[in-house]
Amino acid sequence: MKRTAKKWPRKCSTKFCRGRTWKHYHHSTCPKCTSRAEKERAPLKVAFRKLRFRAKERGHEFTLTFAEYEKFAIETGYDKLKGKHSHSLSIHRKDETKGYHSDNIAAVSLSLNSKLAFSSIPDYLLAEYEDEMKRRREEFANGGGQTQITV
Ligand SMILES: [Zn+2]
Repeated sequence: MKRTAKKWPRKCSTKFCRGRTWKHYHHSTCPKCTSRAEKERAPLKVAFRKLRFRAKERGHEFTLTFAEYEKFAIETGYDKLKGKHSHSLSIHRKDETKGYHSDNIAAVSLSLNSKLAFSSIPDYLLAEYEDEMKRRREEFANGGGQTQITV
């Protein structure tokens, strides 16, 4: 019987997925399914990488290590919500002139997140929202009348 070598690219091994995978990609699933699986397996690591990517993209310093991030996440209760609510933890900087350092990060409360149904909003947008909220609160405290918040 003649054997025919399998050709590349191949179909993603996920059922019903129409994505492709390549010989040198070293995964049997397409990039989409691979990252999804990784997110389920190690949500904290994925969230950490995303935070670091966003921070660098926005020109913020980033000295936070994964170990520090993990400790922070566990302390703030994020680890209990991993998977289902991967966007629930939003980190913002206490001192906005400084970057992401272990002593300059604070978490937006999870109860606030769920109350406002923010679980589907990416962290960086939530951080922007927090910045905006803070700015408006200060504006209001200084006698400004613009307190209406639109999301
Ligand atoms: Zn796929």
